[in-house]
Amino acid sequence: RPEEHGLGERVRVRPDLAARGGYRAGEAVPGAIKLSSNESGHPPLPGVLEAISAASAEANRYPDNHATALRTALAERWAVSPDEVIIGCGSSLLCQELVQATCEPGDAVAFGWRSFEAYRLYAQTSHARAITVPNTPDGRLDLPVLAAACASADQVGVAFLCSPNNPTGAVITDDELTAFLEAVPKSVPVVVDEAYAEFATGVTPHAIDWYRAGWRNVVMLRTFSKAYGLAGLRVGYAIGAPELLHAVRAIRSPFNVSTVAQAAAIASLHAVDEMDKRVAGVAAGRRWVAERLRRLGLPVQDSEANFLWLPLGVHADAFAEHCRREGVIVRSFPPDGVRATISVQADNERLVDAASSWRHSAG
Ligand code: PMP
Repeated sequence: RPEEHGLGERVRVRPDLAARGGYRAGEAVPGAIKLSSNESGHPPLPGVLEAISAASAEANRYPDNHATALRTALAERWAVSPDEVIIGCGSSLLCQELVQATCEPGDAVAFGWRSFEAYRLYAQTSHARAITVPNTPDGRLDLPVLAAACASADQVGVAFLCSPNNPTGAVITDDELTAFLEAVPKSVPVVVDEAYAEFATGVTPHAIDWYRAGWRNVVMLRTFSKAYGLAGLRVGYAIGAPELLHAVRAIRSPFNVSTVAQAAAIASLHAVDEMDKRVAGVAAGRRWVAERLRRLGLPVQDSEANFLWLPLGVHADAFAEHCRREGVIVRSFPPDGVRATISVQADNERLVDAASSWRHSAG
């Protein structure tokens, strides 16, 4: 019997991980439309499926671990050198690698709250501590307060500024970014997570301009998952100081961006016109949905991303549950609000219809 051999005992894991649930991914429900993960509602861009098919013929070989062709294409696009570009298996994994490359145990990861949930997760799982500062009441990152918190804290390993911010959609301004950079030590990497930057129609800083102007601690983080519509293939990238990227390479797992993903990313960079059209469509859809929801009397914050934030407070879960019954999956962040992705017009209409029936049922 197993017990006689001392078997049947629980397997030991890191005690701090036993109670953690990990990243909460937006779920897909058969038959419902998924507006909970800020994906693109379009199929891959023109030329991408052909590139995927050609690249899959090389599936017996490991991918290029350095993603040389993709890094070269991105370096050209952003007028930097390839050794200032690093590719990751999604920009979320790059967030984790950046934390691991910058934080020793007990060092701090600084970010606003709410912001992208993975920053907190990666701080916790890397034995770092989190410095968080609540957003302003209108959902904007409170950069002066975050800068003061960073300036007075011991050993800040890395700061994450998300613009447009997930889940609130707010952007930081040029002046806010400059003031933040002036206030924090120049040695602290400041990662500006621009996962949704392509959707911004208003004036918003692109971190690359600060990096090129000499702020060596600025890192621009981008992804192919949102505007480029390649969420399923997992490709993101960061541009920043070679010494930082060298440290990231020192900890990253090899071959974690597939040949197919690299080829698809390169092909999608060429589809400029179609990409512009789709992004403009999302911006128009965002205005349309925001106006409809506001007309229904729902609170909607201004957003520059491919989603809207409804600060519904304690009603967040009930709203999300109602939408789910109507076949529309949105993401609840109780007790603060709900985030709904802007997609193609048919999906946007379903969202507005679900919100409308919520208003009417709630009186
Ligand atoms: N940053 C932000 C702000 C995000 O919202 C997301 C995805 N939800 C990511 C990074 C990660 O995207 P991916 O790993 O697909 O590149």
